[in-house]
Amino acid sequence: QQANQLKPIQVKLVLLGEAAVGKSSLVLRFVNNEFIDNKEPTIGAAFLTQKCKLLDKIIKFEIWDTAGQERFHSLAPMYYRNAQAAVVAYDITKAASLDKAKSWVKELQRQANPNIIIALVGNKLDLEDQRQVPKEEAQLFANEAGLLFTEASAKSGEFVMEVFTEIAKKIPLDS
Ligand code: GDP
Repeated sequence: QQANQLKPIQVKLVLLGEAAVGKSSLVLRFVNNEFIDNKEPTIGAAFLTQKCKLLDKIIKFEIWDTAGQERFHSLAPMYYRNAQAAVVAYDITKAASLDKAKSWVKELQRQANPNIIIALVGNKLDLEDQRQVPKEEAQLFANEAGLLFTEASAKSGEFVMEVFTEIAKKIPLDS
């Protein structure tokens, strides 16, 4: 009976953010626990699934890694339509990437499912010595906009699981 209750809850999750902030790398770390340096950029759509087990539920993420790159912007609404969760990533070593992340958040809040869970992720935390974006600045925006917020590194793996478990915790049991 316990096993029955833990039928996976399917959750569509989209990744958004400026090109090269590390969206694909974050997914690769979460799904395969690996990192590939100087990875070829994702062309077109990549679709991966990964389960996240919590005490009271299992979330099966269907992850869409696609629309972040500028040339796909016009396709974005098609990708985030029906998404229950979004990871909006920026690169802590590139100030402009936070501006881009903010504009994605605003677009999602205008156009996506009103209950969408949005996590803002500052990636490349391993490059602390090249940091351009103060953590407090991103945290403040996240608080004001009602987002989850984490700094993480796809390269070292630090805090990547936390991004997805924090989202999983916010998914209602009856969804
Ligand atoms: P995407 O275009 O947003 O999907 O970005 P990619 O995942 O393709 O990553 C872009 C580049 O940044 C690649 O050369 C990655 O190896 C590198 N990269 C991604 N994540 C990290 C990270 O956490 N730290 C460092 N130092 N480099 C990263």
